[in-house]
Amino acid sequence: PDHGDKRPLDLLIAAPRGFCAGVDRAIEIVEKSLEKYGAPVYVRHEIVHNKYVVEGLKAKGAIFVKELDEVPTDAPVVFSAHGVPKSVPAEAERRAMIYVDATCPLVSKVHRQAERLLEKGRHIIFIGHEGHPEVVGTMGQVAEGEMTLVETVEDVAELPFGPDDRLAYLTQTTLSVDDTAEVIAALTARFPDIRGPKAEDICYATSNRQAAVKELAEECDLVLVVGAPNSSNSLRLVEVAERLGTPGRLIQRAEEIAPDWLEGVDTVGLTAGASAPEVLVREVVDALARLRKVRERTVTTAEENMVFKLPRQLR
Ligand code: SF4
Repeated sequence: PDHGDKRPLDLLIAAPRGFCAGVDRAIEIVEKSLEKYGAPVYVRHEIVHNKYVVEGLKAKGAIFVKELDEVPTDAPVVFSAHGVPKSVPAEAERRAMIYVDATCPLVSKVHRQAERLLEKGRHIIFIGHEGHPEVVGTMGQVAEGEMTLVETVEDVAELPFGPDDRLAYLTQTTLSVDDTAEVIAALTARFPDIRGPKAEDICYATSNRQAAVKELAEECDLVLVVGAPNSSNSLRLVEVAERLGTPGRLIQRAEEIAPDWLEGVDTVGLTAGASAPEVLVREVVDALARLRKVRERTVTTAEENMVFKLPRQLR
């Protein structure tokens, strides 16, 4: 069909984009668990925040549940990439269950930092988004009251601590690099002795994907981000584009693209959150190519070659 507007459309595809090493590993853990233990394998929480991935694993025999008490004691269970509160593996041990922990090693690193800081007698300020499973998991590494969550600069102003309190901060791995820098600046201004992590807790995949969008957003009239509405790092990519003055849209599948989004648009940027598979990116490219004559170009700002080992029980 003739869609009327056949002006060429420049499509700038961000690199890096899409799957990170933690997501790759988590999906492989479910697949290998299915091979080793046979179906069904239970998975506590969406293994990664992507419906397409979850549906694919369901078709192979994975059963997704919210809580451990929904899993029969004699069935294997996988914990998601976002990490879990300590009480969850403890409960699995108590019930003598077979469990495989797919927590991303970069999230586990934050968990261990929290333990060490507490041993040193510091109270932890955790920068993150309330209710996100990674935040629930990280706060669940310590007893209640030992970690305080802040999301914004305003939250920092309201913290009930004084200059003599021994404090430290940690962050969620999938935050906005720029927003987090502001929150950290507010913390260090109010509490000059506060300790931070040696290296940023925001992971390489999050910062690389944000940097790549920054590089192309100003050249674009619209930025499309393939990702789920509950995916923190995907939402941050939309924000990065919008802050540079370019409208951003989060889409789960190509079918959500309305032809009128392209009215008056000459250049589209395209990226994908860390939990979105490349096949969904290609689906978007194909959908755009049905609407306009697409001239595709990749904008590369970093090379990634991170790979995480599987847990010993699946190697
Ligand atoms: Fe790990 Fe970062 Fe991927 Fe999260 S986004 S799974 S922390 S690599």
